Parts: sequence; C-alpha cells; structure tokens
Amino acid sequence: MKNRVLVVDDQKGIRRLLEELFTKEGYAVSLANDGRDCVEKVKLSVPDIILMDMKMPNMNGLEASREVIRYNASIPIIMMTAYGEMEVVQKALEAGVRKYVTKPFDIIELRNLVEEILAEKSVPEG
Ligand SMILES: [Mg+2]
Repeated sequence: MKNRVLVVDDQKGIRRLLEELFTKEGYAVSLANDGRDCVEKVKLSVPDIILMDMKMPNMNGLEASREVIRYNASIPIIMMTAYGEMEVVQKALEAGVRKYVTKPFDIIELRNLVEEILAEKSVPEG
C-alpha cells in the first residue's frame, strides 16, 4: 500500500512542487492550504506523515500541529519553516513535531527525511 503524505502549505507553488515530487516517488499525496484545512483532512483520513508549513492564515503550523498531535500523536510531522523562526521551531519540537527543514529546502533531503521517518515508524517495537 502506498504511504500517504499530507502536504500543508498556503503557497500553491510549494504544494504543487511537493505533490509532484512525492507522487513521482510513489506516495499518495493529499494537500491542505492552511492549518484548519489540515486538521479537517487529518480527521477525515489519517496520513502516514505530514509536511507542515509554519506561516499560514487561519491556523498556523504550530497550532495545527498541536491539534493534530492531540487528535493522533502517532502521525509524524515535519515542519517547514523560514530562516529565523527558531523560537517557534523550538515550541513545535516541544509540542511533538518530529523534525524541521528550513526553506528553501533541498527536496532530495526532504524526501530522504520522509523515507527515514517512515522506515523508523514501520519497525515493529519490542
Ligand atoms: Mg506559508
């Protein structure tokens, strides 16, 4: 079964770029354009991993991450931040966000990070 990636970003260009990349890599990609949209989509269908922008209208990435983690703490979240947002990154990591990348990110590194996290997730415990 395909791994499901939820891409959350208010910038259409970023959504399109990541949709193209992860679809090509064999993932099932869904998109959300802000934090509120993300939380609604997670409640409809739980993804295997979320790529979450930080700055978005309606609900930002930190608030959306907190909501998602409250709903289902097993979904790994990678935060996508801009340079200089370390304070909010720290808060996100404390809230349970797994990793972060700084924009502009290297898409190959991002893909590798997603693969690593999903590989860890699929290792049975014990
Ligand atoms: Mg943004």
